[in-house]
Amino acid sequence: MGAGDKALRPPVRMCVRCEVTTETPVVVAVVHQNSGPGFVVYACQACAAHYPPQPEVLTVVSPSRRAEGER
Ligand SMILES: [Zn+2]
Repeated sequence: MGAGDKALRPPVRMCVRCEVTTETPVVVAVVHQNSGPGFVVYACQACAAHYPPQPEVLTVVSPSRRAEGER
């Protein structure tokens, strides 16, 4: 409808989970590579809820860890 709001459109990203482009991407992971710059993994708002928050520095693994997830 509006003809002058094109410049303000946020960049769309493809959700890594459902592979649907979203205008409200959420960063769920940042991949660092040895050579060249890393890249950011985006997910849509709905899928982002399924991702755990990004670990700060170290992730402490509980000794009583059960097979509740993937390896
Ligand atoms: Zn998604």
